Amino acid sequence: MARLRTEIPGPRSRELTGRREGAVAAGVGSVLPVFVDHAEPGLLVDVDGNRLIDLGSGIAVTGVGNPAPRVARAVHEQVDRFSHTCFMVTPYEGYVDVCERLAELTPGGHAKRSVLLNSGAEAVENAVKIARHATGRPGVVVLDHAYHGRTNLTLAMTAKDVPYKHGFGPFAPEVHRVPGSYPLHDGLTGEEAARRAVAAIDRPDEVACVVVEPIQGEGGFVVPAPGFLPALADWCRSHGVLLVADEVQTGFCRTGDWFACDREGVVPDLVAMAKGIAGGLPLAAVTGRADVVDAVHAGGLGGTYGGNPIACAAALAALDTMRELDLNAAARRIEATALPRLRALPDVAQARGRGAMLAVELASAEVAGRVAAACHAAGVVVLTCGTRGNVIRLLPPLVIPDELLAEGLDVLEGAIR
Ligand SMILES: *Cc1c(COP(=O)(O)O)cnc(C)c1O
Repeated sequence: MARLRTEIPGPRSRELTGRREGAVAAGVGSVLPVFVDHAEPGLLVDVDGNRLIDLGSGIAVTGVGNPAPRVARAVHEQVDRFSHTCFMVTPYEGYVDVCERLAELTPGGHAKRSVLLNSGAEAVENAVKIARHATGRPGVVVLDHAYHGRTNLTLAMTAKDVPYKHGFGPFAPEVHRVPGSYPLHDGLTGEEAARRAVAAIDRPDEVACVVVEPIQGEGGFVVPAPGFLPALADWCRSHGVLLVADEVQTGFCRTGDWFACDREGVVPDLVAMAKGIAGGLPLAAVTGRADVVDAVHAGGLGGTYGGNPIACAAALAALDTMRELDLNAAARRIEATALPRLRALPDVAQARGRGAMLAVELASAEVAGRVAAACHAAGVVVLTCGTRGNVIRLLPPLVIPDELLAEGLDVLEGAIR
């Protein structure tokens, strides 16, 4: 293909891989060992001059583009003013601006408060801390196939053993796993799946929160049956249990709405966010009901870098970009283009997803691995996921040019056929 100058990975990438092996922990993996030199809209350009079509957005992060000009300008301006004070030492306006925007954008018209953090796992941990403090209860309920991060508490919440949990225990206690909704495999309606989930919760009066990804990410891009999330939300409300939406992967226009909960009008008590929030800068947040978040004593939440001013400036620019370019509409256009093509493929167990979060479930991890390898060799970055590793997922930048999306899909189709 004309976009490729060398085999993948090329000689310069292979040389860097050699150096990497002598310096970087072997436990840190890479999907595709090409070293990136720079990015262009919808493309990653590697150190050998190969131009790869990006259908991964660095795991749903660079939805607004990479580089996104407005984000880049905001970062330059902020880093020239100051790079850090620690909000817990001396505050700055950008942090407050981000919290105000999140209060507007997250589901529900109630009074809200936010805390800013650095990573998705840290956001989920803080949502659990807040829920436990506000309810005085210890229990945390999570679903089959869940992914919530790699810290000790969030590993307890994450379902998949290899590679995430294997050998890293013991894990945090009081985390209870119940079945979710996986329409392809359980055949249940949303209401039936929700009844099955809550029936597996032994002592609701000891549960602080139920934590759900409104569309499961690493677990396989599993879209729950309609009605599942609303029924779960109703059950939580009637049992004094807080509903925490882990929107780390689904948030910020990825699914064609600001948040995936919006589609069914579900209003969580707390929302955990990260990935797409700041155009590639590390930022995360928990936004939730003011009475719940403010139950925590002063000084109980925070961290040295949480809500770093450069990351906040990037987030404000990214949020402006999402609104100005109407990236919710862009995500819906991507779905309208890509999902019918995925659905028409042979030998696919299911094509599914929403917005620019799309996937095909294949027969086995072995098949998915071969399809992904064929895409990589042809210069298209796709990722796999799924508890069984048998799902190919697409997370294109929301600003991907039409012709690059079409070309990427051609390659994927060819690989599957
Ligand atoms: C990626 C992810 C996390 C963890 O985020 P990190 O920034 O990697 O810590 C948590 N929850 C979901 C749903 C995710 O997709």
